[in-house]
Amino acid sequence: MRNALGLMLATVVSAAVIAGVWFWTSSPRADAAPQTVAARKAEPLPAATKPKDDVEVTASLTKPAPPPAPAAPVAAKPVCANPDALGVSRTVIIDTTGGPGFGFLQYKQFDFLTEKEVVLTFDDGPWPTTPAVLKALADECTKAVFFPVGKHTTYHPEILRQVYVAGHTVGSHTWSHAHLDSKKMTEAQAKEEIEKGFSAVKMAIGAAPAPFFRFPGLGHTQPTLAYLGTRNISMFSVDVDSNDFKSSGPDQVIQNVMTKLDKQGKGVILMHDLQKHTATALPTLLRRLKAGGYKVVLMKAKVQLETLAEYDAMLVKDLKVPTVASRPIASVVQTAQE
Ligand SMILES: [Zn+2]
Repeated sequence: MRNALGLMLATVVSAAVIAGVWFWTSSPRADAAPQTVAARKAEPLPAATKPKDDVEVTASLTKPAPPPAPAAPVAAKPVCANPDALGVSRTVIIDTTGGPGFGFLQYKQFDFLTEKEVVLTFDDGPWPTTPAVLKALADECTKAVFFPVGKHTTYHPEILRQVYVAGHTVGSHTWSHAHLDSKKMTEAQAKEEIEKGFSAVKMAIGAAPAPFFRFPGLGHTQPTLAYLGTRNISMFSVDVDSNDFKSSGPDQVIQNVMTKLDKQGKGVILMHDLQKHTATALPTLLRRLKAGGYKVVLMKAKVQLETLAEYDAMLVKDLKVPTVASRPIASVVQTAQE
């Protein structure tokens, strides 16, 4: 049974590889007529060991259609260069309606992770340490959920764009990392922290953020939880705290995570991409996860968050970025020489 399954899997994988090779080699010439594509597609085959039939199936999908629009824009799934990579074992799509919570320290409704499954999460960025975190994740072909601080995204928008472009999920961690459970925090202020944080992420990445939110210091209150619920924003707590912000060095970050994880068996791991020790620890930590048989689950949102125009505007005003010119262009920019 297992052999049969393995064989089937091998066939599917081989077919996918061959189809991928064909797509790869033929796509730059997408302007060619479909017949030509069909004829040429046979060329790479001699090198392969699989029967042609597998490829014909893929080709026939495009054949009956009128000349296809340039095929190149279809982003080919990047191939992982590391055959022993940690990877992503599965991607889950979260319906955030009503604001479901994840991370058993505070929210115990949805126990969706199976044994040895982990979700990697990073708070407090983007920061100059973030690219090292991204590299470590890319080297292992794995993905994480990031909870950036709004203000930090205005300092390093290009770094957050790298996070987004790399295919990680980007939520928010408030505008200024204010603790929303502070006695001095009014409901209006808390709302502003939440909304402006998301507006800042949107401004940086140029796309709607995931409706995923983590409270600074994990400090939630009933009114803020209720508010997130009305906005269909999911809240994230933690199962395994790396305590990286108070770790003496990278080794301790690794030890904190592995010790807790080995005890609990699975969970949402909390780290900070703003912590140098974490960035340094990550390549080894990811190897340890792989060696320990842990599997990474990527969480994505079914529907992205629509930010509120009022807070988008507030952010623009705060940043003193003029959006509307008060003077005609000609009075500002004049051609001196052509
Ligand atoms: Zn934080």
